[in-house]
Amino acid sequence: MFYESTIFKNEDALSFEYLPELLPHREAQIKILAQNIEPAANNRRPQNTFIFGAPGIGKTAVTKFVFREFEENFPNVKTVYINCWDYNTSVAVLSKICEELGIIVQRRGWAKDEILSRLVEMLAKMKKGIIIALDEVDQLIFKDSNALYDLVRINQYVKIPVGIVFVSNDPLVFSKIEPRIRSSLNIDDIEFKPYTLSEMKDILTERTKLALRGFEDGVIILAANHAVKKGGDVRAGLEALMKASKIADDKNESKLKVEHVKKVLQEVTKVKPRILEERISENEKVILDVLKEGGFEFRNLYEKYSKSVENPGTEKMLRNYLKHLENVKLVKYLKTKKVFKIA
Ligand code: ADP
Ligand code: MG
Repeated sequence: MFYESTIFKNEDALSFEYLPELLPHREAQIKILAQNIEPAANNRRPQNTFIFGAPGIGKTAVTKFVFREFEENFPNVKTVYINCWDYNTSVAVLSKICEELGIIVQRRGWAKDEILSRLVEMLAKMKKGIIIALDEVDQLIFKDSNALYDLVRINQYVKIPVGIVFVSNDPLVFSKIEPRIRSSLNIDDIEFKPYTLSEMKDILTERTKLALRGFEDGVIILAANHAVKKGGDVRAGLEALMKASKIADDKNESKLKVEHVKKVLQEVTKVKPRILEERISENEKVILDVLKEGGFEFRNLYEKYSKSVENPGTEKMLRNYLKHLENVKLVKYLKTKKVFKIA
């Protein structure tokens, strides 16, 4: 039987992945990014761009939004969006770009230079410009610091316009790469500032209007306040509204009420650490579990960790995991006490 919700009009509109038709309060950033990549449509070199700012404030949404609009308006430019958590080496990134251009890449056996030359060949043949977004680029630089060098090389080999949009939470992500590479990328920075409470209210109002048949005015301010308190991450507001709407839906209510939102606020914690915990490797998850018991010096941590996993590997490997966990800000190292702990 088809069940019609009393409250949801379009539940998707409250999900994290939903990309709305409008992004209120990011008009200025959208405009700059669009202007930076626009030369590609006229066969001129686009301006490489670096977007940075706190988690959950529209960096990914703006990038995908501009790409969507751009492809609709300029079919002679191909846009490729890559999340570097999923593609964190030079070979992985280059293969992904190939795949998006319709080149079949042999999973095994192709060396980096071969992938690169096929890619360059294809780009030259297509006579299309290409704009590549490397979202969460810190993951790529962490794993494979030469990767950006390979991307710069594409630019040197082909005459068609190639532009790169880098996105990260970490404003200092490029401090880890060679200054020569950084300067050859000639990057324009766009800083995303956190939303104010009133901006957060506007954003959540629009999303809620799309999602629900009805809601009390008070629910927005509650959710917006909560999101601002949880570090300004819009997702905390969306999650509170989604969870509360599900309660209202179960009760066959036609309207989301303040009482529903109040019920869920406590369980809606910071979103970013939870997302990260899903993305890290199994061994890293074990390390976090150990550290949840308290702080540990490296020796003791290694011992405890070794007992908790089948293949602990060398101390060096544990150090690398810890470096990564520190890098994504899930773990902190207290220098004075020589202790690792949960951040
Ligand atoms: P970031 O990449 O900065 O971590 P996202 O772009 O993923 O954050 O945004 C988090 C969530 O908030 C997404 O669901 C996104 O659609 C939403 N969002 C952020 N800014 C806006 C906005 N200005 N208007 C509508 N939704 C927004
Ligand atoms: Mg993002």
